[in-house]
Amino acid sequence: MGATPAWPPRSAPRLFVGQEIAQGVPVTIEGTQAHYLLRVMRVGEGDTIILCDNVTGEWAARVIEAGKRNCMAEPVEKLREREEVPDFWLCAALLKKDRFDMVLEKATELGVARIQPVITRRCVADKLNMDRATTIVTEAAEQCARTALPEIAEPVKLEALLRDFPEDRLIFFADEMGGDPAAKAFAEHLPTAALLVGPEGGFDDAEREAIRDHVQSRPISLGPRILRGETAAIAATALWMGQAGDWS
Ligand code: SAH
Repeated sequence: MGATPAWPPRSAPRLFVGQEIAQGVPVTIEGTQAHYLLRVMRVGEGDTIILCDNVTGEWAARVIEAGKRNCMAEPVEKLREREEVPDFWLCAALLKKDRFDMVLEKATELGVARIQPVITRRCVADKLNMDRATTIVTEAAEQCARTALPEIAEPVKLEALLRDFPEDRLIFFADEMGGDPAAKAFAEHLPTAALLVGPEGGFDDAEREAIRDHVQSRPISLGPRILRGETAAIAATALWMGQAGDWS
């Protein structure tokens, strides 16, 4: 007798829903999420889907109604609690749209707690479409089976970021002009951290001075080559996750 097949099936579609999930309380799914379930994943009544709400955790739910434009699912069993999220903030200067999209998606997969877009003097972009950013982050979280969504903050100017920065964490400043080797700096295993990465044109001298003058800033080097902003953000986040995050 083979092992009983895993339930829910690993292929079960996974969605973040806007309402808090409770056992036996049906969840209505509509709009693009319903389209994805009904048309793309061809989900029907009786099928199992996986729902997360970024609050209680991850649930197996059974589709109890499958209409043309929406469907209803009843949470059957909680599978996992909402994950413990490594307390890492990625403060990344806005980049050109598709490159910042990559930062949003990869930072979500890597497990960050918060993405803080920063506006610096050499930023090409000066605003972020928050709805679009939320969709990218949510889809990345669904794909990598996170049970928590990273927070996406509204973009702030560098000066405001430095002025209002909370005292609970260091600001690891990825400085292409040099700093401590990142692996060494991250090995302090502090439970919280923030990483600050510049835009395509880098930080200007006044910005670099202001960042270095901040009592919580720690300049770090990401090696001898000049990385693109998205590469620096993704690589340094991965390194931190390996050293001090939840990869160990
Ligand atoms: N245009 C600038 C580089 C900007 S790279 C120049 O040519 O000098 C974009 C951002 O990635 C930088 O602001 C920095 O935050 C980060 N970065 C790139 N390479 C890095 C390195 N070797 N060490 C630390 N940070 C780096």
